[in-house]
Amino acid sequence: MKLIKLVGHVFIIILLTALTQVGGLIWMVALVLSYLLEWKKRYSFPIIYLIFNLILIPVIAPYFGRVQLPVLNSAIRPQNYFYALAFRNYVTPELKSSLNNTAAELANLGIQISYLDANFPFIDGFPLLPHLSHNDGRKVDIAFQYKTANGKSTNKKPSLLGYGNYVNTENPTNHYCKSRGFWQYDITKYLNLNIRNSLEFDRENTKALIQGILYQTNNEKLFIEPYLKEQLGLQSYSEIRFHGCQAVRHDDHIHLQIN
Ligand SMILES: [Zn+2]
Repeated sequence: MKLIKLVGHVFIIILLTALTQVGGLIWMVALVLSYLLEWKKRYSFPIIYLIFNLILIPVIAPYFGRVQLPVLNSAIRPQNYFYALAFRNYVTPELKSSLNNTAAELANLGIQISYLDANFPFIDGFPLLPHLSHNDGRKVDIAFQYKTANGKSTNKKPSLLGYGNYVNTENPTNHYCKSRGFWQYDITKYLNLNIRNSLEFDRENTKALIQGILYQTNNEKLFIEPYLKEQLGLQSYSEIRFHGCQAVRHDDHIHLQIN
């Protein structure tokens, strides 16, 4: 019985570490405190988790070179609070100030920056699964812009998490990559949980969003699918690259990385 309990704890610690980086550690802290102070585990873990998430880690992370992206800001916010609650919204101070500058400019156009996965708070090289490259604070995924069925621009998004809702189901690069054996290229389709089916892709505002991002000088690369780069008329931007078949398709979100 004790062995089963131990295996259960190890499993939870590994799962929480993979999903949130510090969640496994918080589980261990909750276990020790519950044992020492005779707290009920079912209450202690969520309370201690929230204390770490809302107070401790945002204060500690800057000493290790990462800062948290805004959560309740009107110009820049997570598409889903999951990204903040799972410690997946940390970046370098340079990337944060670059996004803040972009968001301030775009606010004039009524465009809000909605971010998806960024990086964990600690340790260069610790990957934020399933993205292998989001491991140094310099990367962030950003949602596209959408409009309502009657053509009005909105900051609402069609899908719950922001991944897997492709602009075109037909994508030449998808065929090319899958025919070469890169089966994972459209794996994000399984993450697509549509909650607002009536919203449509907003070309003008997505283009304005990308141009606003690229107006900052410290950008290294921005990934969208080649067909979208062409359709949006962004061919002149050398920072917009094809990410290669080993990645996943990028006609559902923007990937940005800075120098
Ligand atoms: Zn990315």
